[in-house]
Amino acid sequence: MQNQRYDVKIHNKIQISKNTILLNFKFINNKDFEVFNFIAGQFIQLFFVVDGKEYRRSYSIANSPENFKQTQALEIAISFVENGKASELFAQDKVDIPIQIRGPFGLLTLPKVVSGNLIFIGTGTGLAPYRSMLQNLTVDFLNNYSATIISGFRYENEAIFQQDFNSYDNIKKIVCLSRETNIKSQHTVKGRVQQAIKMLDLNSKTDTVYLCGNPNMIDDLLVYFKDLNFTSKQIKREKYIYSGH
Ligand SMILES: Cc1cc2nc3c(=O)[nH]c(=O)nc-3n(C[C@H](O)[C@H](O)[C@H](O)COP(=O)(O)OP(=O)(O)OC[C@H]3O[C@@H](n4cnc5c(N)ncnc54)[C@H](O)[C@@H]3O)c2cc1C
Repeated sequence: MQNQRYDVKIHNKIQISKNTILLNFKFINNKDFEVFNFIAGQFIQLFFVVDGKEYRRSYSIANSPENFKQTQALEIAISFVENGKASELFAQDKVDIPIQIRGPFGLLTLPKVVSGNLIFIGTGTGLAPYRSMLQNLTVDFLNNYSATIISGFRYENEAIFQQDFNSYDNIKKIVCLSRETNIKSQHTVKGRVQQAIKMLDLNSKTDTVYLCGNPNMIDDLLVYFKDLNFTSKQIKREKYIYSGH
């Protein structure tokens, strides 16, 4: 079913930070809604037309499968890129934009059996899959396992999903702001996620790390975790590579 395209329409759009919108859309045909399933952490491809040409862009699903079934809506977070085809189209007030989606895709998903700590590292909208996964985790799970989420942004006004993450008491949170000079908030440090990871006590035999977002960050941390003897199975990653056409 991954080649199948589904017609969707924008239901709601919210500005969630200076440079990011949360787009909420619904399937036009109820039959499509009923067959569409995904695992928390996966992404979809979006198809849209600008000046007669069709474009395809990938976006992580930001809500959980359970939330999707309840609300009948899929959520994605789009960060604004200057002169970006998708960015400029979806930043408009217009909501009646013809869109098709395809998917789901991706292997950035929770393990069936958790052996050690889960460490979720994301930059910008690369935190979206973790919002989906955490909505999916039961209180029981969170009481039994230790999870840490490290969020990276340039400035505080670009931060997203922190209210969601703060609602989970049992998760350790670290926010890294790479360009902010005035750090005011709790759990927040100046610098990149690559530096913050050094604050953690990691177990390379049992922990699983998740990396999502900026490709350079992922390349850096891949080397870091491999040097610590993490195996490929213990490092799950999704690079937000842009297609550029
Ligand atoms: C698996 C996957 C999941 C993704 N999930 C998300 C997501 O959840 N949210 C999200 O916002 N994006 C996500 N992306 C990136 C997304 O698919 C688009 O690439 C992004 O939204 C830019 O698209 P655009 O059409 O606005 O810009 P484009 O028209 O593709 O690019 C316009 C110009 O900006 C440059 N450019 C594009 N992106 C960047 C960038 N990040 N940094 C610097 N320059 C850039 C291009 O080189 C080009 O010159 C994901 C990508 C992948 C591969």
